[in-house]
Amino acid sequence: MTTPMTFLGLGAMGSALAAAALAAGRPSVVWNRTPDRARALGEHGATVARTVNEAITGGGPIIVCLLDHQSVHAVIDPVAASLSGRVLINLTTTTPNQARELAVWAVEHGITYLDGAIMAVPRMIGQPGAAILYSGSQAAFEENRELLGLWGHSDYFGTDPGMASLNDMAMLVGMYTMFAGFLQGAAMVGAEGVSATEFARRQTPFLAAMTGQLPALAATVDAEDYAGAGQQSLEFTEAALAALVTASVETGVNADVLRPVHDIVRRQITAGYGRQGTARIFEELRTSRNGR
Ligand code: NDP
Repeated sequence: MTTPMTFLGLGAMGSALAAAALAAGRPSVVWNRTPDRARALGEHGATVARTVNEAITGGGPIIVCLLDHQSVHAVIDPVAASLSGRVLINLTTTTPNQARELAVWAVEHGITYLDGAIMAVPRMIGQPGAAILYSGSQAAFEENRELLGLWGHSDYFGTDPGMASLNDMAMLVGMYTMFAGFLQGAAMVGAEGVSATEFARRQTPFLAAMTGQLPALAATVDAEDYAGAGQQSLEFTEAALAALVTASVETGVNADVLRPVHDIVRRQITAGYGRQGTARIFEELRTSRNGR
């Protein structure tokens, strides 16, 4: 019989992870701060623990999916001494440095630490399209591949525990700015009575087509070849962005999503790169990392 695993945190995501394990016949002990949230999993065969201490007695990997870094410490610090020799798989969203801090904490307590970043919403867990990025202990990743595979496609980013989170967060930057840009556009056409639903019907295939430009953009950045032929210049992009800001303001819609992009492009032009490609935005952002 498989050693029972432990799930700490049964919010929307923790419950989905535990449900997938139970559906695959994996014995699971579950715990949640608010006990009511464990009831449904109990009805599906999970052993419901009343305390964290009781939950970790099973011997299998301990899967943590709590709100944030602070709540992870709040739950596991008090039982640290009992976790020595165990595998902790933390799927809570943390920053890269928070993941690294947890890994150091784990080593200090004799715990094997694997960090995970979930690229899915709860209803996608166990379905095609769900992916989870991992970094930290390679042994923990390899030994638990079958379990991790129950949740989605697994990608391992190496022993630096912060790398899964870093890749996750870098991808989410693109997602959030895209959503915000879509909403600004929806507000612009909405000012003239076009519904957001109708706008989404047009915007969706356009954005999908635009993502086809990413490999070329990436190749330019990697080659640092911003002066190469065929690139849309910063000057061209500046004129386009100025028109977009004006059009937004003319419809009475706040252009705050777009203005920072416009400012970045203008700064690169001021620095003398106006005839070079728009991918130079990367250089402006990279420089900002060094304190500008
Ligand atoms: P929920 O808000 O549904 O659940 C949060 C969980 O954290 C609950 O179990 C809650 O317990 C627990 N919790 C919060 N604070 C504490 C504390 N101080 N002590 C003990 N338990 C605490 O969030 P999700 O399940 O959706 O998300 C969990 C993690 O998964 C987050 O880090 C999130 O970023 C990540 N994630 C979620 C995604 C999603 O689409 N939902 C997508 C990708 C990642 P209680 O029930 O008692 O409040």
